[in-house]
Amino acid sequence: MTAGLLIIGASYAGMQLADAARAKGYSGPITIVGEEARPPYQRPPLSKGLLLGKQTAEGLTIRAPAYFEEQGIALRLDSRVTCLDRQARRVRLASGEELAYEWLALTTGARCRPLPVPGGELPGVHSLRSLDDALAIERMAATARRVCVIGGGFIGLETASALRTQGLEVHVIEASAQLMGRVVPPEVAAYFTELHTQRGVVLHMQVGVQALKAGADGRVAQVLLADGRALDCDAVVLGIGVQANDELARAAGLACDQGVLVDACGRTADERILAAGDCACFPNPFGIDPQQSLRLESIQAANDLARAAASVIAGRPEPYKAVPWFWSDQYDSKLQIAGLGHSGDQRVLRGSLESGKFSLFLLREGRVVCVHSVSRPAEHLLARKLIEARVQALPEQLADPDFVLKNLLTAVAAAPA
Ligand SMILES: Cc1cc2nc3c(=O)[nH]c(=O)nc-3n(C[C@H](O)[C@H](O)[C@H](O)COP(=O)(O)OP(=O)(O)OC[C@H]3O[C@@H](n4cnc5c(N)ncnc54)[C@H](O)[C@@H]3O)c2cc1C
Repeated sequence: MTAGLLIIGASYAGMQLADAARAKGYSGPITIVGEEARPPYQRPPLSKGLLLGKQTAEGLTIRAPAYFEEQGIALRLDSRVTCLDRQARRVRLASGEELAYEWLALTTGARCRPLPVPGGELPGVHSLRSLDDALAIERMAATARRVCVIGGGFIGLETASALRTQGLEVHVIEASAQLMGRVVPPEVAAYFTELHTQRGVVLHMQVGVQALKAGADGRVAQVLLADGRALDCDAVVLGIGVQANDELARAAGLACDQGVLVDACGRTADERILAAGDCACFPNPFGIDPQQSLRLESIQAANDLARAAASVIAGRPEPYKAVPWFWSDQYDSKLQIAGLGHSGDQRVLRGSLESGKFSLFLLREGRVVCVHSVSRPAEHLLARKLIEARVQALPEQLADPDFVLKNLLTAVAAAPA
């Protein structure tokens, strides 16, 4: 019996890697070690359905217990790996126990950035990464009246939308000039700015947070802004981004740059160690520079890179080649993003922002490279195929609501190779 495949991190990437390794024929022992006490669960609903009361904590479990038994996968929860010894091919757990491996997969994900200002850790200040975090926000929302959300990215805005929908007074504080500025083009940001404003969220743009102040009970009671204003609140939710959990890799001498550096098969420089998911940086064939390493925080990237890593273990390496995609639900608007855009890309709108149903296409050298759709799921699925097929399209075709997008795919299929 070999020491088998040891996976550190029991979430999307870890589960997918185990699943795909089995599906691809790996028959050795598989052990997944997870720091959290709960069995693997879905994270996207934490800022969506769960906070809205539409989904329960129990309903978020990714796999029934029987699955692990059927697949011969040992799941060790509530166990943190503290040290990796590459020479001995062993890891040490916080309990002191050591586990050997033949293959090691790092799927340790990411954790929320702390707010680096005085008062940033006061009681009543919430982050949102785990189910426990979400349940704490849910409890807070049952009694709080006014909440300040710091950060106007996806997590901050989804949380703002859920809390506002429940009738709380919500203020969003964003340091930059644009909501979701890291990922979405200005038109899409403008749509969501209008949506949140209409729903009664107060947006404070281009202003930093200087400190959080406690009330008489020691809990957060005020957000002090850099422009001198003070916002009263009953609680604060932070949505200021995450950092990769790459410490184990770094301490073991593996190359990291805000994430474990791997190739398109999830391989590190150590032939026995792979990484996937939010902790990994990998070259993406759909990036503006396909050689540049990117860290994509999404379920799709976690799953697809994990599958590529599993193919290495199975002895038939198949590099990652999927079109990146992501979604965000805010009120009744569903934002879906496919591909990777760049500020220099040409932007073409199909539909109108006012109707709340549109797709914004990004073209680079005449090819569709990225699409942001709001509440147009069928069109979005098609757009994903256009990106995958790297089709050429004219801006006037994409903008014309009567032009049949499918024809672009048919034209590619019919073109001589
Ligand atoms: C609130 C929220 C909403 C989101 N919404 C979306 C969405 O709509 N669409 C989308 O595509 N993505 C969404 N995401 C992002 C998505 O959840 C992540 O991309 C995905 O969870 C990454 O999976 P992962 O397995 O790489 O890492 P994670 O899910 O972060 O899991 C890593 C696991 O490893 C464990 N771990 C870390 N270090 C150790 C250690 N030393 N020993 C043992 N265990 C360890 C952690 O405790 C954790 O359980 C959302 C995330 C959050 C938090």
